[in-house]
Amino acid sequence: MSEVISIANQKGGVGKTTTAVNLAASLADKGKKVLLIDIDPQSNATTNLGYSRNDYEFNIYHVLIGSKKMSEIILKTSVKRLHLAPSNIGLVGIEKEFYDGRKKKRELVLKKAIENVREKYDYIIIDSPPALGPITINALSASDSVIIPIQCEFFALEGLAQLLNTVSLLKKTINPKLRIKGFLPTMYSSQNNLSKQVLADLEHHFKDKLFNYRKNFVVVPRNVKIAESPSFGKPVTHYASASKGSMAYKALASAILKA
Ligand code: ATP
Ligand code: MG
Repeated sequence: MSEVISIANQKGGVGKTTTAVNLAASLADKGKKVLLIDIDPQSNATTNLGYSRNDYEFNIYHVLIGSKKMSEIILKTSVKRLHLAPSNIGLVGIEKEFYDGRKKKRELVLKKAIENVREKYDYIIIDSPPALGPITINALSASDSVIIPIQCEFFALEGLAQLLNTVSLLKKTINPKLRIKGFLPTMYSSQNNLSKQVLADLEHHFKDKLFNYRKNFVVVPRNVKIAESPSFGKPVTHYASASKGSMAYKALASAILKA
């Protein structure tokens, strides 16, 4: 039985997609069978894995409206053992469908769709959009746990309380097993005092929620190879395997496998 992990934070540009793609690729490189579900209309995870819009006909939108099964949209990727359920800009339309009052249990549509592929994978990673709307609620409702990337910048913790409230509300209602797997500090820069301050705050307040690898907290540095890799359609762990950014995501995968 697989573990389903959402990567979520309603703040934009904090490293969700980067984390989803590179964690998924690193787990696959360590021998696990992994499905990455892109459930963001921006489709960045899909693009980061080298797919462009015309390369595939069906996407997660078709699964959520019930016209395709999850197994019918899944694509192979250049990373061995890593499969992708792609997204497309058309997914924006799902919000309207979800808000249509006639649809029952709309929070659980993704969870249901995952059910019949679940046993084929060791891990299912879900990349969610920068909002706490129905798409992210579907992602969290389908998940065993959530990883929250936190950008080491000004206002890093802004909105975090709202996200944590949403998680605890879902826990009390439709997904009692949901837990916070951890916070992942991203885009850390040791030359930047603010960055150091954010990391110090996280270490102070959320020590038990940081990932540990070889007695260090896992912190993703700001790294140019990470920023470059999407344009090559590859995870940084394949584009620049020895880079600091790549090493951080491999450490995250190791921390998760050991836990
Ligand atoms: P959105 O909220 O729009 O979905 P996101 O949270 O998924 O954004 P990413 O797309 O992963 O964030 O990252 C935002 C931008 O920052 C991207 O251009 C990405 O390549 C870059 N980036 C992410 N992490 C790092 C890093 N550690 N070092 C340098 N650049 C990074
Ligand atoms: Mg993203």
